[in-house]
Amino acid sequence: MERKEVLWEQLKKKGLSDTEIEEKMQQKLDEVGGLLTEEGALTIIASELGITEEQEYLRIADLTDGMSNVNIIGRVLGYTEPREFERSDGSKGAVSNVIIADKTGKTALTLWDHEVRLTEQIKRGDILKIIDGITRQGRRGIQIQIGRGKVLLNPKDDPRIEEIPPLSELARRPTERKPIADLQEGDKFCEVRATIAKLYNIRFYEACPECYKRVIFKNNVFYCPNCKKKVDRKRIMIFEAGLDDCTGFIRASFFDRKAEYILQKTTSEAYYKVKDYLNKGYDVRSAQRQYITEYHMGLLGGEVLISGDVTYNEYTGLTFNVRELRELDILEECYTLLEGLA
Ligand SMILES: [Zn+2]
Repeated sequence: MERKEVLWEQLKKKGLSDTEIEEKMQQKLDEVGGLLTEEGALTIIASELGITEEQEYLRIADLTDGMSNVNIIGRVLGYTEPREFERSDGSKGAVSNVIIADKTGKTALTLWDHEVRLTEQIKRGDILKIIDGITRQGRRGIQIQIGRGKVLLNPKDDPRIEEIPPLSELARRPTERKPIADLQEGDKFCEVRATIAKLYNIRFYEACPECYKRVIFKNNVFYCPNCKKKVDRKRIMIFEAGLDDCTGFIRASFFDRKAEYILQKTTSEAYYKVKDYLNKGYDVRSAQRQYITEYHMGLLGGEVLISGDVTYNEYTGLTFNVRELRELDILEECYTLLEGLA
């Protein structure tokens, strides 16, 4: 039975007629303005009526922004090392992302503060079940947070476990290697191997740690207009470089961890070095340029293997947004070449 039908049946068991369900569903769809599927609308109606057991059937592709009581299961593909940050009140916070996947897609489970201890217990291939979690629109798509819910490690009794593909299948690279000349606006999961041919600027902004949107500072607190609440700010670094692979040239944007990785500097190290130039009387642009010139000219001519998406910006043209940055693994490169020849 389709999930939509299952939900429909459950609503009928709650005493709603077909017409009532149809009306309620239409009302939800109108409220959200076309962003919701019928199945999504029924899920919300069911959860409003306290029907929770049905959520056993959620799959990663079913997740939409702003859901609560999310019951989802997925296999761990990897996680980021817990990272500390400072809240506006001076207290320390920590955050880590665990990437989980099922047969329908991938998502990140974001762990906050004490929750990051979970990373000490999990390994690639484990199954995680999140009960009563919530969803949020993140920079890279819908993400899950535990909220008031909980996580079970390697549960035994969930019917969805059997359908989750093994790690070897889930971890297979979904990216397609492309020459820069073939890149087009809207391309996703592209992989490019190129030489760093130009260093553009570096910049920083204060972001919401949950949604990565810019925060505003008012009445002595940081406020996220997107999450509509007071948040702890996180400083984000963006570095841009021009890449050349002999077929073409493209501007690439390295965001946050990717910028730290390629520059081999933490965001605050870079931030304070740029600030030193500001203190010496440089204007913002010259300070950023001076920092790059003094510390990062060595990147020119280096080779990178990156994957990501291509967008178009009216000021800078086509931009490659780096999602993943990998050390060039010569052995793997050889295999890729051999596969190409076979
Ligand atoms: Zn936010």
